[in-house]
Amino acid sequence: MWAEIDLGAVEANVRTLLGMCAPGTKLIAVVKANAYGHGAAEIAHAALRAGAWGLAVARVEEGVELRRAGVAAPVLVMGYAPDEALPAALEHNLTLTMSDLHTSALLSTFAAAAGRTADVHLEVDTGMHRYGVDIADAPGVVEALSDLPGVRLAGMYTHYASADATDTRVFDRQLEAFTNLVSELQQRGLRPEIVHASNSPALHSLDSCFDAVRPGIALYGVRPSSHWSPSLRPVMAVKAHVGRVFDVRAGEAVSYGGRYVATHAHRAAVIACGYADGYMRSLSGRGEVLLHGRRCRVLGTVCMDSFVVGLPDGLEAAPGDEAVVLGAQGEERVSAEELAERAGTIAYELLCGMCRRGSRIYLRPAG
Ligand SMILES: *Cc1c(COP(=O)(O)O)cnc(C)c1O
Repeated sequence: MWAEIDLGAVEANVRTLLGMCAPGTKLIAVVKANAYGHGAAEIAHAALRAGAWGLAVARVEEGVELRRAGVAAPVLVMGYAPDEALPAALEHNLTLTMSDLHTSALLSTFAAAAGRTADVHLEVDTGMHRYGVDIADAPGVVEALSDLPGVRLAGMYTHYASADATDTRVFDRQLEAFTNLVSELQQRGLRPEIVHASNSPALHSLDSCFDAVRPGIALYGVRPSSHWSPSLRPVMAVKAHVGRVFDVRAGEAVSYGGRYVATHAHRAAVIACGYADGYMRSLSGRGEVLLHGRRCRVLGTVCMDSFVVGLPDGLEAAPGDEAVVLGAQGEERVSAEELAERAGTIAYELLCGMCRRGSRIYLRPAG
């Protein structure tokens, strides 16, 4: 199996998202988890070509990987940085997120010893209740950080817990609390230069854009909420070969555990893709692939390296034929949203796991 990654679609999505923000808003492209399974370096370069200002990842190692791939733009590390990762972060000029004064004090020591200044962003918890300093403590932490040698508080952000919900009350409360904090800091001359809050689903609200936005899933062409209207171009297609075509007789069971039993004779095809490739086992009996432009249902259990689909009447296939596991063929499309729903998860998890074993083929825009 293999994935085709449409870099022109990434660039178009970046431009669409930038067009939703106030002029001058910076876009920080979230490329954590190997760019949600799309390949971090290629996606980073495509996003920057299309006007992204910087990149965000979850781990220091992910940031180092971007630097090794020649990315010179700002790279924000949003997740926890263990003490032993701080020297690498400093060496590679990564912008760490501070959620406490322990890490900032240690970073300050390392930076001072190296004769450098490390840019950091402060995360403020306004209701996500994950990382971040409590909003009540934020002004004090901002002051403390501003006094630390070797550390420059370049940015401050918060993260929304429910920006995709149709009921916007939680979102509104977080936005209001954060906006108040930003004005308070502004009045005291302590406002960091780059304030940001919006993940993809929050981009519908212009008020929440501040100086920068932090979209992930929307870059990859997945609608971030049910009430999202701008059109995005899907980026990943996943394809696999037909490995074998055979007859199933009435009463015969297919695949591990015999969980599918044929009620009538029909043709079936083995698809050379399995849960080790990211085709989740929860798609057993539920997934659909496209073969010659027609939908074919998964029969029985998805195996590690393969699964079986039933061929609808009149459809013939042969080993070597191309099956579309995710994406379009002819008039039909299996979207990441659809496949995730069939798998009982969200497109984020599905995409992250796709194609860990297969190769990624990058389609570049012409010119
Ligand atoms: C993953 C992540 C994002 C991106 O979220 P999407 O919903 O994919 O747009 C933004 N900010 C933080 C802190 C994140 O962890």
